[in-house]
Amino acid sequence: MTTYDNTLNADGALIVGAGLAGLFCALKLAPRPVTVISPKPLGFGASSAWAQGGVAAAIGAGDSSHAHAIDTEIAGAGIVDEAVAESVTAEAKARIEDLARWGTPFDRNAAGEFQLGREAAHSKNRIVRVEGDRAGYAIMQAMIARVRETPSIRVVEGLTVVDLARADGRIIGVFARKLGDRYGEPVFIRARATILAAGGLGGLYAVTTNPPGVRGHAMGMAARAGAVIGDPEFVQFHPTAIATGADPAPLATEALRGEGAILVNDLGERFMPAIHPDAELAPRDIVARANFRQIKPAVRCSSTPARHWAPASSPPSRRWQDTAPMPVSTPSRA
Ligand SMILES: Cc1cc2nc3c(=O)[nH]c(=O)nc-3n(C[C@H](O)[C@H](O)[C@H](O)COP(=O)(O)OP(=O)(O)OC[C@H]3O[C@@H](n4cnc5c(N)ncnc54)[C@H](O)[C@@H]3O)c2cc1C
Repeated sequence: MTTYDNTLNADGALIVGAGLAGLFCALKLAPRPVTVISPKPLGFGASSAWAQGGVAAAIGAGDSSHAHAIDTEIAGAGIVDEAVAESVTAEAKARIEDLARWGTPFDRNAAGEFQLGREAAHSKNRIVRVEGDRAGYAIMQAMIARVRETPSIRVVEGLTVVDLARADGRIIGVFARKLGDRYGEPVFIRARATILAAGGLGGLYAVTTNPPGVRGHAMGMAARAGAVIGDPEFVQFHPTAIATGADPAPLATEALRGEGAILVNDLGERFMPAIHPDAELAPRDIVARANFRQIKPAVRCSSTPARHWAPASSPPSRRWQDTAPMPVSTPSRA
């Protein structure tokens, strides 16, 4: 067996990343021993805490996971793996119930049922929310509290994983460094199983709505270890952000369009109805491309995405004001 100096042992499985995927996995593995690595204190540096609109699941009366899968396939324009769409949508309700059982205070009506919002490409209201646009923050706070009180989960904060450790054709753990220490000797963390939950790669782009530290590290490590990376060209862009000049840019949540907000260009023209029958509620790739065409200097607009957002012409309903008071709120940026 390969030996290394500077070695730590993770009891049981090692989870790289402490967003919702990492913490949820740790809770599901309890009471088996698990070590979770988070570069920043729990709740920081993860897209999960920035998510706003909510989570989609076929929960409402007259809805079905099959209908949700069909909507997903239509939005995917012929390139969706049907089996994956069916299995993910079939599990969604049970996973929402897990999140609720573990303490997420989802919005509910007087009868105690989930209040369901609408988002693009869904033919039914299926988005479970928390206080309008605070779903990600509230879910993460609930999961963090649960993780902290679970004795089988050890959280190691302040380390960034830099590579997978291999021996005899197997992954035997990871190499990690203190966050911000680019040149120090990495520590080897030995583990019986290593789970990569280090998020996406939005932080690689010039402007992103993701935390800047989410930069595709796990994909790189997996590729170096010989994994075949599937469909890396599929990167989801939020079609509407507020161009404050800052990176990351604050998101203008899609729930606004779900509640009737429309998109107009600098000339005050609404452009989405000519592009897709669902207009502003077309699939995100279509709205994102349409916005991009409007802000390209070669077209007649030189405005920023912020100026492409406009509320619906009718005054917002009381519910809209209650549920989406601050479309650019991002509770825990760090
Ligand atoms: C502004 C915003 C709004 C969103 N709104 C919604 C929404 O309304 N509904 C919805 O369903 N989805 C939404 N999303 C998408 C959703 O948040 C993500 O798909 C989801 O949170 C991803 O979870 P994750 O655990 O895989 O990744 P993340 O939550 O990003 O967690 C990744 C973790 O890995 C860690 N990490 C990264 N690199 C390393 C490394 N080298 N070593 C160790 N750890 C590492 C990070 O620090 C972090 O802890 C939104 C995303 C953003 C950014």
